[in-house]
Amino acid sequence: ATPTALMVGTGRGAQLGILIKGPEVLESTRRVDTVVLDKTGTVTTGRMELRKAYAEGDTDENELLRLTGALEHASEHPVARALAGGAAQRLGTLPAVTDFENVPGLGVRGTVEGHRVLAGRPALLEAAGIAPPPLPDDHGSTAVAVAWDGVARGVLTVADAVKETSPEAVARLRALGLTPMLLTGDNRAVAEEVAAQVGVDEVIAEVLPEEKVAVIERLRGEGRTVAMVGDGVNDAAALAVADLGLAMGTGTDAAIEAGDLTLVRGDLRVAADAIRLSRRTLATIK
Ligand code: ADP
Ligand code: MG
Repeated sequence: ATPTALMVGTGRGAQLGILIKGPEVLESTRRVDTVVLDKTGTVTTGRMELRKAYAEGDTDENELLRLTGALEHASEHPVARALAGGAAQRLGTLPAVTDFENVPGLGVRGTVEGHRVLAGRPALLEAAGIAPPPLPDDHGSTAVAVAWDGVARGVLTVADAVKETSPEAVARLRALGLTPMLLTGDNRAVAEEVAAQVGVDEVIAEVLPEEKVAVIERLRGEGRTVAMVGDGVNDAAALAVADLGLAMGTGTDAAIEAGDLTLVRGDLRVAADAIRLSRRTLATIK
């Protein structure tokens, strides 16, 4: 590969809204055959909204919302912002949280008004020896299980929308002969709903952040050349081990630092442009 041709590719990339770490990055995209897409914030907007509150037993619905909203106020996660924002909108000022702890890919813990509150995936409650509450049959939304003082208190559901551009982005990847896959820590029902909406057939769901790396390594072990597109802190390690890491420019600094390329405007369609550009650039060199 001649440096001049690669520099031309880099310059064209900048015009398309692709920031390339170094010209040599284009070389690793040549054999990419699989594109792993993170769900939240990559395929979906990541702007989640509170949908419903399901209080368990004699738990008061507003109390469920108040304690959970207060706890989630301390977290930056899109699910947390939806819960804290939704609770504040309905109830006004929320109480303070102490001893806050984030459990990546699972949820959060903290103390609110003397209660030890847990909110997150059912597995977070199970790990604390608490039987999770029954989950509502609401397939399009993410269910957050809530417990305090060792007892399950209910479920809050949040949902975010698929980006308008995501179906076209997936179609463009397919047109390049690439196999798209959806990778998420979220539950299988939500993941499959999103996959169906954008036209992805292969779904890898309920994956912990540290397991995302293992998924990429497994795919590479099967002989695939893997590009990964992600935006979150929880995607950074997977972006780094992928043959090609593409970070959403609208995402976290951790993802941008770990990626080889940045899609400046956070437009997933540009992922296909990036791969096509590198193929073309390299074709002119051969
Ligand atoms: P993704 O892989 O889709 O970007 P994450 O790995 O960040 O998602 O999170 C996986 C799941 O963990 C979420 O879908 C949610 O159910 C749960 N979760 C993560 N953070 C929180 C939080 N702060 N509050 C409640 N649930 C959370
Ligand atoms: Mg994400």
